[in-house]
Amino acid sequence: MSPELSRCQAVCAQLRRYQRLVVTSHVRPDGDAVGSSLALAQALTALGKSAQVILRDPAPDPLTEFPGVETITLAAAVPADTEAVVVLECGDLDRTGLSGLDHCEVVNVDHHQGNNGYGHVHWFDPSYAAVGEMVFEIIEALGAPMTAEMATLLYVAIVTDTGSFRHPGTSPRTFAISGRLVAAGADPVLTARRLYDSNSVSRVRLQGAVLQTLDVEADGRIALLELTAATLAATGAAADDTEGIINIPLSIKSVQVALFFKATENGNYRVSLRSKGSLDVGAVARGFGGGGHLNASGCTVPGPMSAAREAILGRLLPILAAEAAGGAAGA
Ligand code: 5GP
Repeated sequence: MSPELSRCQAVCAQLRRYQRLVVTSHVRPDGDAVGSSLALAQALTALGKSAQVILRDPAPDPLTEFPGVETITLAAAVPADTEAVVVLECGDLDRTGLSGLDHCEVVNVDHHQGNNGYGHVHWFDPSYAAVGEMVFEIIEALGAPMTAEMATLLYVAIVTDTGSFRHPGTSPRTFAISGRLVAAGADPVLTARRLYDSNSVSRVRLQGAVLQTLDVEADGRIALLELTAATLAATGAAADDTEGIINIPLSIKSVQVALFFKATENGNYRVSLRSKGSLDVGAVARGFGGGGHLNASGCTVPGPMSAAREAILGRLLPILAAEAAGGAAGA
């Protein structure tokens, strides 16, 4: 038995053991968090269990278009009678933002580099492009039927976490699973339309306002964007509407890293980091107590903007220089 199969089987054995389950994921959930959690809860329900998705924060706007999202319970704690909690896509337990997990069996399923191996059973494998792929394998191993709704939710998880099959980690397995999801009823055209053609006017105005702040460093290899509370208020957009803006400067040919600084109410900055190729922005974010992947990560740093910018660049510039030196040595 391959190691991933045995980890998957260990997770399934644990899930079969319990009756009252909660499936959860990280604060400020993304497509993988929402889609994977709902599909797994639906599979467990089909197997006769009581399974509900509890998230600390609501699903962001385009995701609310998908069936099943209305069943998510928003809460800060799991119910006292919960026997087991499946935690998806969280490098550590704090990322759930939930309390009450200490009296439950915890099952940890994740693909983020740096997962600290919490929980009674864990399956952690960064070779999976999305937790949605891992949940597909769990559902199959459990023998639960794959409905069209579950297939759609898992397809959303995979499409969003791979940046529409563009991020590293997208593998033959990603396409094989996605193909099976489409065969089971996921609609790629409708999904793309719901995910990418669902902007509001205020959201596009916000994109324009944020792009006005575009600045570059390191000979155009780093792009920086900033969002202040005043800009957000002036455009009438919601905080969620920032999703995806960071990918726009990544489309600049010379840019290797994009940074998006979002002011928070308490004077800190939430920083989103994205990179191309082997430049590890996950390591940069972890240096500030955040986390994520090689090419997509996030963290919070103290303001004002000048200090936040200096802190991030202080860690990033040496990494960029080392990359350039490595590239030059290898050339
Ligand atoms: P985003 O920039 O979209 O907020 O986050 C990008 C990636 O980094 C996501 O995979 C997200 O889970 C991860 N991430 C963002 N912020 C944090 C954080 O504060 N801690 C950890 N562990 N991961 C984060």
